[in-house]
Amino acid sequence: MALDPDCLSQGDKVIIPNPGFSRNNNIKNGVLKCVQSGTPGDTIEQKAEAAVIIIENLSPEGIRNLSTNRRKRLRDEIAAAQKINNKKISATAGRYIPQEEMRKMHRAKLSYEKTLLKIWRAKREPDIKNALDEQKKTLEAKKQELQRWDDTDKATFRKWFGTDGEPARKQIEEMVDKMLNLNKNTTIDNFVDGRDGFLSHHVSTTYAFVQPNDTFFHNVHLCHLFDKAPATGTDSKAETLTHEMSHFSDIGDTDDHAYGVRSCKRLAKKKPSDALNNADSFAYYCSDSR
Ligand SMILES: [Zn+2]
Repeated sequence: MALDPDCLSQGDKVIIPNPGFSRNNNIKNGVLKCVQSGTPGDTIEQKAEAAVIIIENLSPEGIRNLSTNRRKRLRDEIAAAQKINNKKISATAGRYIPQEEMRKMHRAKLSYEKTLLKIWRAKREPDIKNALDEQKKTLEAKKQELQRWDDTDKATFRKWFGTDGEPARKQIEEMVDKMLNLNKNTTIDNFVDGRDGFLSHHVSTTYAFVQPNDTFFHNVHLCHLFDKAPATGTDSKAETLTHEMSHFSDIGDTDDHAYGVRSCKRLAKKKPSDALNNADSFAYYCSDSR
């Protein structure tokens, strides 16, 4: 989209186009001389501030007539300016966007994302509901075991946590109680698409993830492996929920000291204190039914 000088008004932001911009611009009409970004010896911050001012004061003709070099320098300064004060400049790819259009685009983007999330949830709702039901069953079974506390119950507990001491039993029982409560309050709206976004490296190797301090929403971000996981048993959808929910700081505040059945059993023997604070150990314990 070409710059339309008549569309510019006070407060609009203009983004300098990429260096690939046509070199055939007429740079003879003298607008260039009004382009000054700071003075020699300026710090990068001062230059960046000057760049903002130039963008706000520069006429569209001026922008169109910048030399390729000048445009490149300005672009670097704008990048710095964006870092310092990203409110002043809206980052976009080489085009001029009036504020009103920017707001419209933002609203459109939000509503588009909302629609995508709706479709994503609708597709997974039956599986997620089933996983929540299964998780509830395993947690209720563990609650029973932790109260009955016979020799078999203690042996199962020792297998995953390396101890059957009372403080350990109490700690895990509290986590079970808190998770049962969270399970009860969790709906499809707590689940979001974790397959891309800021943690993109999670895409292919991860079942799900949470932000442990997200104790307000308790959102669970589901990734590719979750869709492929079986409904019940080891590394199932239900177990994934238990693993992830244990990370929330108000549920178990667990870490990931070890992953997988073998490593978790080893951890129980080697370091019970870590096993008691390990997400996978808790998840495997919950799936380990009599
Ligand atoms: Zn984890």
